[in-house]
Amino acid sequence: MDVARRLLCAHAMSEVRLVGISKHYDGPRGKAVIEALDLTADNGELVVLVGPSGCGKSTTLRIIAGLEEPTAGRVYIGGRDVTMTPPAQRDIAMVFQSYALYPHMTVFENMAFALRIRKLPQAEITDRVQAAARSLGIENLLDRRPKQLSGGQRQRVAIGRAVVREPKVFLFDEPLSNLDAKLRGDMRREIARVHKESGVTSMYVTHDQIEAMTLADRIVVLRDGAVQQVGTPMEIYDRPANRFVAGFFGTPAMNFLTAELAIGHGGTGLSARGPGFELPMTERTLAPSSVGDVVVGIRPEALTLDARPGAVSLAASVALREVLGAEVLLHLDSAAGELTVRTDAQTPARAGDHVTVWLARGATHLFDARSELRL
Ligand code: ADP
Ligand code: MG
Repeated sequence: MDVARRLLCAHAMSEVRLVGISKHYDGPRGKAVIEALDLTADNGELVVLVGPSGCGKSTTLRIIAGLEEPTAGRVYIGGRDVTMTPPAQRDIAMVFQSYALYPHMTVFENMAFALRIRKLPQAEITDRVQAAARSLGIENLLDRRPKQLSGGQRQRVAIGRAVVREPKVFLFDEPLSNLDAKLRGDMRREIARVHKESGVTSMYVTHDQIEAMTLADRIVVLRDGAVQQVGTPMEIYDRPANRFVAGFFGTPAMNFLTAELAIGHGGTGLSARGPGFELPMTERTLAPSSVGDVVVGIRPEALTLDARPGAVSLAASVALREVLGAEVLLHLDSAAGELTVRTDAQTPARAGDHVTVWLARGATHLFDARSELRL
């Protein structure tokens, strides 16, 4: 039986669940790094935990691995409470940003190490290491030592070392952050493939929204130790739960315009009014309590310089034209503030031009200015 099938059969149930996890480093009275965190990765799912540096991602992963003890809450793996179980008995394999390979061992021995400790027969160790090495394209490197490898090769070895263990759960802590952009893309696809073929429940931590979008079955957005939103990549992109999530996903970032939500001119329902624009909110059902200061969010691809029926216009001037090849980014100044427009390379607009920019009404996001929550 090949590695992937064996994994599937051996670990039918390996859901990871965190319930009410808190972590205070300086005792229960110290500042919370994580506060009352609930989190589930379903059996076989790849969940990406994403958020800015310092928000508690590694701490969460280390608590799942058993390398860190939570101040409060429980950890379940495959339905079993493992909160007090030592790391070695949790059947988890972790891949770190720093690779953490043994420098004095060959690639083969690095990958075989955990299996030797488990006292597996030599033939099976060789089988598993060779299968993983083949699948990761490193079978010609098995005799080398880590210092004779490039960063990308080292990370492949680190992933291979996790794969051969055939664990219940894979944990990845920013495994690609030390690699250059091209290699990051290659390795990202490699990890996606390893996950797909093995079907092992995986939790992947990153600060990179593109890694999160491309890899995840489900994304958990973390900020200051608190969950902001849980959803599929497209749910999070299309309906960000608050302004932070809206600004975190998407490059270039979403544009934000401050406005006031009020009864429109002529008493015709609600509209968002800001300097130089009035956006009718007719297609939206908004609670009467939403009236007041708001932030209108609109992605750069939802703005255009071509007049569109039903769209709302805004006068602006081009501050900067950035050519990316297939597309062009226009950075505009307007009475409502700075705006970025993503458009095609054919656009005639040049720096200094006065233009009219059009906002598609259905493509706007609305947030309460104070709570920053989606309206
Ligand atoms: P992330 O992985 O999201 O960048 P971490 O989980 O590593 O964040 O850290 C979250 C917060 O906890 C940070 O403010 C960090 O300084 C703090 N922290 C992490 N480890 C310790 C520790 N051993 N003692 C005290 N504070 C820590
Ligand atoms: Mg970290």
